[in-house]
Amino acid sequence: MSDAVSVVWDDALLGYTMGGDHPMHPVRLDLTMRLADTLGVLSNDRIQVVKPEAAGADLLTLVHDQAYLDAVERAPSDPQGVGHGLGTADNPVFEGMYDSAALIAGGSVAAARLVHEGRAQHAVNIAGGLHHAMRDAASGFCVFNDAAVAIAWLLAQGYERIAYVDLDVHHGDGVQAAFYEDPRVLTVSIHQTPLTLFPGTGFPEETGDPEKAPGTAVNIGLPNGTDDSGWLRAFHAVVPSVVRAFQPQILITQCGCDAHHEDPMADLALTVDGQRASYKAMHDLAHEVCEGRWVVLGGGGYGLVRCVPRAWTHLLAEVGGDPLTPTTAIPDSWVRDVLARGLRTEPPATMTEGGWTGFQHWDPFTENRVDRAITRTRTAAFPLFGLDPDDPRD
Ligand SMILES: [Zn+2]
Ligand SMILES: [Zn+2]
Repeated sequence: MSDAVSVVWDDALLGYTMGGDHPMHPVRLDLTMRLADTLGVLSNDRIQVVKPEAAGADLLTLVHDQAYLDAVERAPSDPQGVGHGLGTADNPVFEGMYDSAALIAGGSVAAARLVHEGRAQHAVNIAGGLHHAMRDAASGFCVFNDAAVAIAWLLAQGYERIAYVDLDVHHGDGVQAAFYEDPRVLTVSIHQTPLTLFPGTGFPEETGDPEKAPGTAVNIGLPNGTDDSGWLRAFHAVVPSVVRAFQPQILITQCGCDAHHEDPMADLALTVDGQRASYKAMHDLAHEVCEGRWVVLGGGGYGLVRCVPRAWTHLLAEVGGDPLTPTTAIPDSWVRDVLARGLRTEPPATMTEGGWTGFQHWDPFTENRVDRAITRTRTAAFPLFGLDPDDPRD
């Protein structure tokens, strides 16, 4: 297998834009690619930038109904009457919506294909990770579920065990729903508790269809305010164990960065340092369990200036195998670009926020808010994997 790393990118991906005041603003992707470029991350010899092609109906209907595709296509001419979750405050209709959403889905399929064919060891599409879209409806800023389409495409290539791990602060409900009855796909989501955040699902007791696919969904719902060390403690208490037990042939990771402490949509408290550590943990896991076959997607993240560009530049550097030193200074040219755009946020000066990313491994003898979440997930899910919820070695 090649050790090349593919970064799927084309400025056309910035066409997925829900309007000037909508949180899902494409400037977050633009500033990320510019920061990564300015810091030399994209000139790493291993990295090849690959242009995506729009996914056709043949791919999109692996996950979505044809009637929904038709609705997305005609939505610009009937934004209020089209239904299917479209034309709402969350999912406003915009010109070119079908084509730009299909391009994102095509990008995630391209990333999956490059890894599947061995032309890249890892492949990343930061425009992807639109994990809330459902079979027949838009939801949570997501029109087409590129993650589910890429997984469905991999299944069609004959994969028998695919693991999807979702780091976004919101539950990966659309991907979970797409494969809840499919024993070939494990979905793992670590997020803010559904008691206090959209979409209101992702409870630990959601563990896959009890008849058809028990133990193929794992959910960790963290309390508001969970910080770097708490998040990492929970992650390491659950995710590596279930992924190892499932023995996936390929790993898909949704890297939404809205668990950040400044994110306007949610209430967790990670720094870019904790997020950097989470990406390294996923990278290590990919090499450990599936020979590095790793497809990396973006997701949420609404700190347009201070969070997303830094978090995902760290992600691109990590995937490229040459992680950035946290104290790396942010170049003046990037700061000037931010200021020239009139964004009313103080640009950051370095790639760190000084977050403490040490953590103590979980054991059954301590008890705090995060541990209660961990215990609930381990109790619900671990027996389905043949793991002991109370044994810290599992
Ligand atoms: Zn999110
Ligand atoms: Zn690697």
